[in-house]
Amino acid sequence: MTSPNSTRKPLEKVLVANRGEIAVRIVRGLRDAGIRSAVIYSEADRQGLPVLLADEAFCIGPAPSNESYLRGEAIVDLALSIGADGVHPGYGFLSENADFARRCQAAGIVFIGPSPDAISKMGSKVESRRLMMDAGVPVVPGGRDPLPDLATATEAAGQIGYPVMLKAASGGGGKGMRLIRSAEDFPGAYRAARSEARASFGDDDVYLEKYIEEPRHVEIQVLGDHHGNVVSLGERECSLQRRHQKVVEEAPSPAVDPDLRRRMGEAAVQAARAVGYTNAGTVEFLLAENGEFFFLEVNTRLQVEHPITERVTGIDLVAAQLSIAQGEPLAPECYGVEPRGHAIELRIYAEDPYRGFVPSPGRIEHLRWPEGPGIRVDTGVYEGSEVTIYYDPMLAKLIISGADRPQVLARMARALSEIRIDGIRTTIPLYRALLEDEDFLAGRLDIGMLDRKMDGGELLPKERPEEEDLSLIAAALAHYEAGERRSARPAPSGGHRSGWRQSGRLAGVRGGSWS
Ligand code: ADP
Repeated sequence: MTSPNSTRKPLEKVLVANRGEIAVRIVRGLRDAGIRSAVIYSEADRQGLPVLLADEAFCIGPAPSNESYLRGEAIVDLALSIGADGVHPGYGFLSENADFARRCQAAGIVFIGPSPDAISKMGSKVESRRLMMDAGVPVVPGGRDPLPDLATATEAAGQIGYPVMLKAASGGGGKGMRLIRSAEDFPGAYRAARSEARASFGDDDVYLEKYIEEPRHVEIQVLGDHHGNVVSLGERECSLQRRHQKVVEEAPSPAVDPDLRRRMGEAAVQAARAVGYTNAGTVEFLLAENGEFFFLEVNTRLQVEHPITERVTGIDLVAAQLSIAQGEPLAPECYGVEPRGHAIELRIYAEDPYRGFVPSPGRIEHLRWPEGPGIRVDTGVYEGSEVTIYYDPMLAKLIISGADRPQVLARMARALSEIRIDGIRTTIPLYRALLEDEDFLAGRLDIGMLDRKMDGGELLPKERPEEEDLSLIAAALAHYEAGERRSARPAPSGGHRSGWRQSGRLAGVRGGSWS
């Protein structure tokens, strides 16, 4: 299978249509590949790390995403006007927007991802389930079509058998799902799910799935080129979730042996082939206690947790994305991949774990990342950055790797003893607590485990330990004193800045113009 992409000439300049750590990751990948990088940024991100690192940076609008990072048409116009021949969408924002991919294609710009057709097929939960059923990929037992009315839905739920899960056909990001344990709860849940789906996704189609009790979330990284080759790069275990959002991931999964890895890999490749998938993608599965696995969905983009796969396979996924987009066949090292060693990723969020994970915006007063063997930090912030309320509160990903899981756990403890982030609250206390949790240490994970332990007050004490309060007060005082000193200095000039040349100038500058 050959598509027009395979005849493309090498990329010379790529516009990164994203922000934060993933924009930084892609800019680095572009530089490694000898491709010029340009980034967009919102007024709130004027001093973000992507702006400092990229060769070129362009303001795309005010802080709110729909006035900046989601302006597909303006982004394509910008790419054309700056002579970019490719656009990398990262994750989130426009990355799974088939119209945006189509718009790039129509403008003669390479969208670094799968085809618009594959994105739209996989974007609908109902359509992707149907395609997978037809391709012989095991899906979660349940319906094939949206449920037109309450009577049909009630009957279907009875047939599937409680507990069931109602899902929005256009849902995503953990939203629009409802667990129903008994028939009497069904009518209310059905009505609520539909109106929630309409409000969140502009589409009130819902469908039913059997609820799998305490499964693991195991996903397979795939790569497909424009020459018909599709490979599996093995699994990531993403069972540690808070309200259906991943917080800790690891590779390989403690629950997957070579035989299961081979079977899940084959199912994932089959799933990707069913839609003519190209570029990097992730096929998500639920793994039941008895070892059965079920297709959940395909994420048609680079995942947040891609670095753990990079650590255990040695394959640079952004480099692979770029070479696929330039029409090259998959490199020989992408075939027959077996994981080597172990890796864990901790997502560090600017959220307060002692107060129901409320966002914790503010200025990062003091920052020290861990270093040393087996440590990688992917981030978009630095000391002095202002964390705003406009975007996802993920500050950084701490990726820890080693020869095996015990070594990674030891290094995780070391990394967490070195890390210091003052001025805002973060989820780091949760990760320290995990290191004392027997189930986590033993690799006994399931998708509800974190919520159960948090709700039961098992993982973290209900009250914040006193020393953490003291460190925040100290940071606030330091901020106040530094602010007094800074107010005597000239304010930074606005406009474009690029490269490390300006980093000295920016260091210590307060984000006074953050909007
Ligand atoms: P989204 O696209 O909104 O992220 P998914 O369908 O990928 O939704 O599901 C998100 C999470 O919800 C999964 O990782 C899993 O934790 C849980 N989940 C989804 N479907 C089921 C199911 N049928 N049974 C049990 N848990 C489920």
